[in-house]
Parts: sequence; structure tokens; C-alpha cells
Amino acid sequence: MANDVTISRRQFLKTLGGGIAAAAAVSACGSGNQKSAASKSASGDSEGQMTYRTDLHGQQVSLLGYGCMRFPTKGGLSGREDRNAELDQEQINRLIDYAIEHGVNLFDTSPAYCQGKSEGALGKALSRHNRSEFLVSTKLSNFANSTRESSMAMYKKSFQELQVDYIDYYLLHGIGSKQQMQSRYVDNGMLDFLVGEREAGRIRNLGFSFHGDKEGFDYLLALNETYHWDFILIQHNFVDWNHAAAMNSRNLNSEYTYTELEKRNIPVLVMEPLLGGRLANLNDHATALLKQREPDASVASWAFRFAGSQPRILSVLSGMTYMEHLQDNVKTYSPLKPLSDDDLRLLAHIADIYASFPMVPCNTCQYCMPCPYGLDIPGIFSHYNKCLNEGNVIEDLKNPEYKKARKAFLVGYDRSVPRLRQASHCISCNHCIPECPQRINIPQEMHRIDRFVEALKIGDADLGEMAVLASLLKQLDAGRLSCVISNNGEVTTYRQSGVQDLYDLLSDGGDKLKGALVADKIIGRGAAAMMVLGGVKAVNTHTISTPALQMLRNGGVKVYFDTEVDYIENRRKTGQCPLDSRLQNLTAPKECWPVIQQFVADLRAGVDVMQ
Ligand code: SF4
Ligand code: SF4
Repeated sequence: MANDVTISRRQFLKTLGGGIAAAAAVSACGSGNQKSAASKSASGDSEGQMTYRTDLHGQQVSLLGYGCMRFPTKGGLSGREDRNAELDQEQINRLIDYAIEHGVNLFDTSPAYCQGKSEGALGKALSRHNRSEFLVSTKLSNFANSTRESSMAMYKKSFQELQVDYIDYYLLHGIGSKQQMQSRYVDNGMLDFLVGEREAGRIRNLGFSFHGDKEGFDYLLALNETYHWDFILIQHNFVDWNHAAAMNSRNLNSEYTYTELEKRNIPVLVMEPLLGGRLANLNDHATALLKQREPDASVASWAFRFAGSQPRILSVLSGMTYMEHLQDNVKTYSPLKPLSDDDLRLLAHIADIYASFPMVPCNTCQYCMPCPYGLDIPGIFSHYNKCLNEGNVIEDLKNPEYKKARKAFLVGYDRSVPRLRQASHCISCNHCIPECPQRINIPQEMHRIDRFVEALKIGDADLGEMAVLASLLKQLDAGRLSCVISNNGEVTTYRQSGVQDLYDLLSDGGDKLKGALVADKIIGRGAAAMMVLGGVKAVNTHTISTPALQMLRNGGVKVYFDTEVDYIENRRKTGQCPLDSRLQNLTAPKECWPVIQQFVADLRAGVDVMQ
């Protein structure tokens, strides 16, 4: 059986719950700039004092790290938003002073930040402090000329700009693949040079920041045998923990990256704890849930508590422009208050909804209008977003609020968008796609909303189930997978071609299919028969044949699909799929089974089944 990945909600809690307890145990006080402890919190840290972690060389590092890519400008915006504006050095000094005074000792910059002005501004601010009060982190940028000469110049300039004679954490910036590593850092001899600099003590810790997929990450981790990474910077937050790959196939879930690093005892620096600020601006419903639990805590503080919870996290980097953000983040980690299992369950729920029912980033500009088929595109998106904001997407059918939410969505939909202008009338003509400045795939979103509305209408919208099915299909699309199955919260992925994985699962006689939620790219008679025989509960697919759809519905399997076709084509697109063809006149799953057995036996014996 070619299954390879298993993720579960239980595991979310298990991994994080255990990790949090351990984190509390390893958190320590004792940096040179800390004030004496007055009292101890439940986590073992001193009340009102920054939480610290320890790197591989015994250095205490503040859990909050200051990311210097968003330094304030004189115009009030950050240097990232207003690229031409002059940085506000006085305000930067005030921010750095406050941070150091409150126990922050790690400052992370790069020659690329703020149009090349961040390192110099940070150097000026830090030069007013004793070198023992701060740790500095910078990078050999991946966004620059990769010749050795230019790389050496960049490296030397960092020392000048930062006004230091050693760098505490030096990173190869933004690597995601073997090819990038090779061409930017290995072929020009820079990596060997930097290893030598580490030996000479001018670099205290050498690592890299990662942006990429599993293949790239595994390759870079394997290099640990040679280069002995002192730390690695990853993207990590409570949505990316389980949903990063499903939302973007070029990303990797931080559950995987963090766990692999923890196994190797490699300290972890965190970037994007707020997912580009989005986790500080959750929809009204999610915000209300968090406020209900802790009225005085900011929404951002929840994301920071999650990001800092695991024991191998050395520091969480946050790009802070404004004093109030710095103050709030300092408060969150002074000290870190561990998340309870209930807190983690709530964050997992919010992450599921965030990833499975994403808001459509429509700003109702109307550029896509008129739709030649009469759809009220912005009206549909507005209603959907409003309902998400108001929490009219309830995960659990048994939740007493479910009926109310269902009614609110459907009644409101009919009121705000006339029936003839609703999502069900989209024929995917794609006329609107190039018009949208937000680059929304409008027809795809229309079909997603229509599926949601249809399920609500038949009163069968188990939204928790729909959320899982949507995320399974995303996972299927993100990887080169044949199907993805969720059973009792455990998700397993499969890679064999055609129906072979379903066949093996059914032949094994196990109960993997019983009550399962399945995502499969294409479903013909064979797959449908096995799903019915195995007791699958619901399936989500891109393409399904009409006979397969009937077979599943007759067998009591709930079906979500994008396209219905008369029959399934073979791989060469020269005619009908050979299994579909052998099952041509059969409608009962039990009658199909011996035919499927013979088909798989032929396939595995090397018989040309296309004949
Ligand atoms: S793709 Fe759908 S929404 Fe867009 S113009 Fe065509 S019918 Fe209208
Ligand atoms: S063009 Fe895009 S952003 Fe503007 S109304 Fe249409 S869907 Fe919304």
C-alpha cells in the first residue's frame, strides 16, 4: 500500500499539547539583560518577564525576535509598504530601546529589507547599546547577484552596516530546492566560506530560511550531515501547521517541518507567525470566539502563543512597525502562557474554517460586470463573505446554532441576490477572469459557493464534513496523489494509479473505507462500486461519470463533484476507460467486484488492459 502521510486533529493536539508542556520545562530566564525574578508563572517563567529559549551553544534567546523588514518610515507607513520613503531613525531607536529594555535580545534583518536600508538603521540603533545586550541575525540574500565577488561584498557590508565584528545568526536567505542551494550558495563556494567563518567565530550560528516543498526541505535537511545547521527559519503558525500545503502546493505544513527539525534537535526560528498579518485580522466570528475566551487578549496574541509553544522554537520573528504591536507582543511572551487543550481545539477549528471556507477577496469593484449570463458576481461574494464574518458557517450538524445559520444564509442569499443571478447559473465561460484586479478565479469560486448552497438547501450540509472534503481535494491536487482518505480524523494519502489503492483497501478486509471521507480525481463505475462496498460515507471529486454517480447515490454515499460526464475516458483519450468498459452493463456494486478483481489481476500480470 502506497500510503505516506498521516495527519489528524488528534495529532494536532497530541503533538502540540506534549510540546507545550515540554516548552514550559525548557523555557528559562537568565539573559544578561533580564531583571531579577519576582514571582513564577504557571509555565515556570517569571511574571512580567520575557520567556527565553536556549540555542545549541547555550545562548539564551528571547522568544520574541524583532524582525526588521517593516521598520517605520517618516511618512508613517513601514519601509515595506512605502519603498521610497526615508526610514524614521528616531522612531526606530525608540522601538529598539523599548524592545531591549523589555528583554527582547534577537534582531533579525537582511541586506534586502527596506530597500537595503534596514541593516544600517538597525546598526545605528544597536550601536547605542552594549554588544552583550543583543544578538543580531542577517542573511546572504537570495535576491541578488550570485557571483562570489558580489556575495563576499554583501557579507562584508553586513558587518559594516550592523557595526559588529561577529554575527550571531547568519542565514542563507529563502532556499526551497536543491537547484537554488547549488546555484546560489554551493557553486560559488560561499557555503564553504561561511562554514569557515563559523569556525573562525565571525559567525556564531549558521542556518537558512526555507520556502519550498517537501522534496526541497528533505534535501536541505540531509545536508545537515555535512554542514551541521545551527538553526533553521521556517514559516509557522496555527493555519500553516496542517493547511499550508493544501492552500498552496509550493508550501509545506509546519507540522512536518517543525517535527523533522525537532527530531534532529535543530533549533527553529519562526517567520510569518501571523500569516502576513491575516491571523491578526480574522473574521468577526472567529474574533468573537477568541474574545469570548479571553476578552483582554488581542487576536494576534493567540497566534503568537501558538507559534511560540513548541519546545524547539528558539524565537518567533515579528516585523513590527508600531510601538503598540511591539508592546502587545512583548506582553504575550512575558512570559508565554501555554495554550490548553481547549485553546488548541479552538485554534484548530478556526484554522479548519479559515482554510476550508476562505473569504473571497472581492472588494466589489464591479470590473467583472456585467456577466453575460446575468450573475451578480460581487453580490454573491458579498453575501458569502458576510455570512462567514457573522459565523453562519457552522461545522457541526448537531450544533444547535446550525439550523439558524443555515436559514440565515439561504434567506439572506435569496434576498440579496435574485435567483436567476445566483452562483448556480455560472457556466464557466471564463469571460470575467481577466477583468478581476484581485485575480480571483471567479467561476471556480462560483462553483464552490454553489456546492455549499446546494448542500444547505437539501438540509444535508454537514459543514464540518464539507470542510474536510474540501481540504482533502486540495491535498489531492497539491501532491501527485491518486486519492486521499480521512477516517476518524486520520488522513492518509495514496499514490498508485487508477483504482489500485481502493482495490487494496477493500481486499485487505480492513475497515479503512467504512465511514470514510474520500477525495478522488476521477470516479467511474469501478471506483464507485468499491466505495459503496467499502462503506464510504462521502466523496469529493473533480469528475464523475453519470453511472458512477447513480451507483454512489443508490449506495447511500454523499457525492460532491465539479463535472459530470457520460463515461470516463482512458488515459490516451482514445475512448472509454478499460475498467469502465468491462463494467458497462453492471449496476450493482456486488456484481462489479469479481470483474474488478480480474481487471487488477490482469493489470498486475502485465496484460495490456487497453486491448
Ligand atoms: S465564468 Fe461564470 S461568472 Fe464569470 S462571466 Fe462566465 S458565467 Fe459569469
Ligand atoms: S472584479 Fe473581482 S474584485 Fe471586482 S467585483 Fe468582480 S470579483 Fe470582485
